[in-house]
Formats: sequence, C-alpha cells, structure tokens
Amino acid sequence: MADKRDYYEVLGIDKSASADEIKKAYRKLAKQYHPDLNKDNPDAAEKFKEVGEAYSVLSDEEKKARYDQFGHAGVDGSAGGGYGGFGGGFGGFDMGDLGDIFGSFFGGGFGGSSSRRNAPQKGRDIRAHIDLTFEEAAFGCTKEVKVSRLENCDACGGSGAKVGTKAENCSRCGGRGQVRSVQNTPFGQIQTNTTCPECRGKGTVIKERCPECQGAGKNRKSDKITINIPAGVNDSQSVRVRTKGDAGENGGPNGDLYVTINIKRHPIFERDDCDVYVEMPISFVQAALGCEIEVPTLDGKKLHTIPEGTQSGTKFRLKGVGIPYPSSNGARGDQYVTVIVETPKNLTQKQREALMKFADETNEKNYNQQKKWSSKIKDYFNK
Ligand SMILES: [Zn+2]
Ligand SMILES: [Zn+2]
Repeated sequence: MADKRDYYEVLGIDKSASADEIKKAYRKLAKQYHPDLNKDNPDAAEKFKEVGEAYSVLSDEEKKARYDQFGHAGVDGSAGGGYGGFGGGFGGFDMGDLGDIFGSFFGGGFGGSSSRRNAPQKGRDIRAHIDLTFEEAAFGCTKEVKVSRLENCDACGGSGAKVGTKAENCSRCGGRGQVRSVQNTPFGQIQTNTTCPECRGKGTVIKERCPECQGAGKNRKSDKITINIPAGVNDSQSVRVRTKGDAGENGGPNGDLYVTINIKRHPIFERDDCDVYVEMPISFVQAALGCEIEVPTLDGKKLHTIPEGTQSGTKFRLKGVGIPYPSSNGARGDQYVTVIVETPKNLTQKQREALMKFADETNEKNYNQQKKWSSKIKDYFNK
C-alpha cells in the first residue's frame, strides 16, 4: 500500500479539532467526493474512501488516541479490519451519518437496494394443515403432508441460465444493480441512483434462459413432506419443519414449513390441555348399590369401582392415563370420569309395582339431600 496520508491532513483539520469539527469536515468532504456526484472524476472514489477511513479513526475516541500516539501503526490492525468496508467501494459502508445529507439527493435509494437485491435471502415460510385423530395427537405419529413449494430448478441449479451458460454481468449497470441519471437543478447537476431496469437490481442478466424454469431459477412443485408429530400436540398448534419452505434467493437458505394441527372430534373423549374427560351413564340401581364399570381410556378399558350411594354428576379421577405432556419424560395428564345416573323410562307394570314396593321401604334416612332440603324450606316459610 502506498504511503498513507495523515488523517488530519486528509480531512483538512488541525490536531486540536473537536469532535464536532471532525464531523463537519468529514461531511463536507464526503459530499464533495461522493462517487455519485463525481462520475467523471475517477479519483473521487479513492478520495471518498480515504476520507471515510480517516473519519472512522478520528471519530472513535479510542482509535484516535492510538493514532495520535502511534500514527498509522497504532490503528492499522483495527483499521485493516474495517478497511474491507471501504475496499469494495462503498457497498458495505455505514451511511448512517450521511443519510441526512444524501437522503435528500437520492431519495433514500442510496446504498441499500443494490446490495439488498444481490444478498442471500431466506426463502418464504409456507403453511399447511393436517387432520389428526385424538389418539394420533395424544401419542404422536408420522404423517405426510402435500405442499406446493418453490424449489431450485433441477436443470440449472437455480441460476436461471441455460445449462452450459452463465448469468453475465449486466452491461447497463456494470453489475452494480443501479444506474445513475442526471437531473438539472438550480444548484447544478445532481445525479441520482435508480434500480437498473435491465437487470432489475440483480447486477447480472441471463442471456439464454433455462427452458425448465424460464430463467426464474425456481419451479413450483408439489412435494410430499414427512413430518413427525410429537406426542401431546394440541388443536391449532403448529409444528415447524425446518427448510421445507420455499427455496432461498441468491443462495440463501430455504424457508420453513409450518403445519397447523386440526384434531378431529372423538366420539367418546373430550380434551382439556392434557387431561381427558368422559361422561358415563349408569343406572340408579348401580349408583345405589355400587358397582364396577369398564371405563374407556387411551390405554384401553380400565375397571373402576363406583361406591354405593354415588350421586349423579360425581367425577372420578384416573391418574396418569391422560395425554402425554409435550417434551416431558412420559408424564401424562389424568382422565376424569363423570357418572350420570340415568332415570329409567318405559316401565312395565311389574317394574312399577317393584318400585312402589321399594318406595314403601324407604324413609328420609335414605335421602339425605331431601332431608336437608325440606328443613330448609320449612325454615323459610315459618319465618
Ligand atoms: Zn432452470
Ligand atoms: Zn443492471
């Protein structure tokens, strides 16, 4: 590298200049040497770089101190790292400070869009739905979903160029992705950057298009994706399948696939979080005498003892036979069984007589709730 000029000299300031004066000097020179305003002066870009480098050191208190003490040797290491930013022109250069100056000239189009269009970009995420049975959602399963996604073209590998040819540097913009146009204003000529109409900002053009994708580099394809549904997923949740979305731009990674779960209604079970609910009718004789009932669970039928004198609406808990908690080591929710005592209908004469006989044998001792109720009512009306 040729001998570097002194940074203070580059900015045309004194060593005693304040931070404000450094900034002012830099802004003035950056504007003066900005390549977009100096199309016919090839030295301007070099000067612009030099000014930017000087400012990056002198505007940083720590670097400035080292530079003041050791000269270029004191900052070359770190400036070297930062130098890359200037090396490639000014594509990667932080324009934060200049935004307000150049924003007005370039309508905000400066420095952004050309690099953005060429940069690798993650592909779009895509969505799909899947219907699961109650059991599939409870215990997890493997499913296939059909999706339609953009994939890189097999024929051209995503370049969009016919096999054996390559995308070429755009001759209109020289690969920059932007073109300059000149406006005459009362203050003189001002050049503005706009997206290159030839390459639409890509910086490259395809001379011979790939016949498979018509130059797009991608094809929409329907694809069957196998997904592992984890145990315990709930209705309306989404399962992410990484990289199964649309292919990325400019070599960027694929997007992801989000599969939304729809759990079909179960004829017996209801679900709340990881607990399972079921209602079972029993006869009033079973409720009065007590009995053993067969309760359906996700693990099959389980015998459960109903104690004598069970009231309608009583809820029993069967521990740990519910739905596995997602991402827990086998821990499961519970199952709640609500028994509904069914009153018999369509009685025969014989059944009526038996019940009447039974009624004659009962008294208030058999009906605790009725006993409480009648004393309440008595109190109320005798007030
Ligand atoms: Zn192709
Ligand atoms: Zn172009």
